[in-house]
Amino acid sequence: MNDILPADIAYWQHLENTARMLFAEYGFQEIRVPIVEHTSLFKRSIGEMTDIVEKEMYTFEDRSGDSLTLRPEATAGLVRAMISNGLLHNQRHKVWTTGPMFRHERPQKGRYRQFHQIDVEAFGFDGPDLDAELILMTARLWQRLGIQRLTLNINSLGTFQSRQAYREILRQYFKSHLDQLDADSLRRLENNPLRILDTKNPAMATLVAEAPLLTEYLDEESAAHFKTLCHHLDLAGISYVINPRLVRGLDYYSRTVFEWVTTELGSQDAVCSGGRYDGLVAQLGGDQTSAMGWALGEERIINLMQTQGVQIPANQTDVYIVLAGVQAEAAGLSLVERLRDQIPGCLIETNCGGGSFKSQLKRADKSGARYAVILGDSEAAQQVAILKNLRVESAQEQVTWALLAETLRQRLAN
Ligand code: ATP
Ligand code: MG
Repeated sequence: MNDILPADIAYWQHLENTARMLFAEYGFQEIRVPIVEHTSLFKRSIGEMTDIVEKEMYTFEDRSGDSLTLRPEATAGLVRAMISNGLLHNQRHKVWTTGPMFRHERPQKGRYRQFHQIDVEAFGFDGPDLDAELILMTARLWQRLGIQRLTLNINSLGTFQSRQAYREILRQYFKSHLDQLDADSLRRLENNPLRILDTKNPAMATLVAEAPLLTEYLDEESAAHFKTLCHHLDLAGISYVINPRLVRGLDYYSRTVFEWVTTELGSQDAVCSGGRYDGLVAQLGGDQTSAMGWALGEERIINLMQTQGVQIPANQTDVYIVLAGVQAEAAGLSLVERLRDQIPGCLIETNCGGGSFKSQLKRADKSGARYAVILGDSEAAQQVAILKNLRVESAQEQVTWALLAETLRQRLAN
């Protein structure tokens, strides 16, 4: 679990601000839900036989003896919120949220126990046009952020019913190779053989690669849905790889699943993934409602922005106020408040805590400010200030308080 320090925060803010603006442009609204939910919610939605539920959840009993869990992902809690607030009776909603998620994984670069996701969900849309739009939105986000070289993998898992037939075929296949299965896979063989395809055990890579393909058992409607999605992506000029091995680590998906991957972050290569989950709302007690969503890992995206040298807007101080002397300090604070009224948006840092002219000017330089406004006791007595350009060698100017805001505005505009 990491501290996010001021030195890195500009990346976080840039990512979140860019996403927030983009989502508004696509008609998505923000929703904020609790970080803690009943443990049963995650068991019922993510699936008992998944890595998350079996090994990764932070689960505890509260003082009333209820089993609670720190959310390992956002979708389950969002669906719970939509149902319990009565928002899914024949309605359509496009929402997004962001915040910390918790998984007790082995920590390594790009894999943390508290990490952050930006999460998008759409409820009430059946057609592949929605699938396409959700994916186009991710592509546009990479473009806005200036992130390059991501690969889009897509697949269709079919409906729950069509998966049953495939499940049986897969079980037979793995059964005929029992000696090659690890302990996790042996356990999943009976209840959830599809999960075996999601294994991260390199020793099983060949076995998984040679397993029968789900694609060949897709029901007709799912196949048509997938074909139209591909067509929409083609028309939009989005390139993708159809990856029949992409099954995703959560049980609730149906039909479309996708994942954006990079080759630039080592083995933690997934930066964003999602899919359709048409059965989950009903499974959790709501009216039958089609739904689809995706989540991106903020740490991985920021890491990638840094690796690729993406430029982000700097939150740089514009003006540093040097106040040397008792009268200067007394007059200076209210002078600065007036400046803030007159130049909204200007980043003004006031020297607090005194110090000599020299030490204050050093701080002014270190702050990155373009200008210093310098006030000593004699300037305060005459109601003037000295304006000094900290970045370009030039003569200092004496400016009256009455003209200070206008002068600063002009200098900063150049
Ligand atoms: P992985 O295959 O890397 O374990 P996942 O399939 O478990 O990822 P999802 O549940 O789909 O991941 O979560 C969506 C995104 O959240 C991932 O694509 C990834 O960027 C990010 N993510 C998932 N787990 C972690 C983690 N422990 N630390 C940091 N980011 C994570
Ligand atoms: Mg995982």
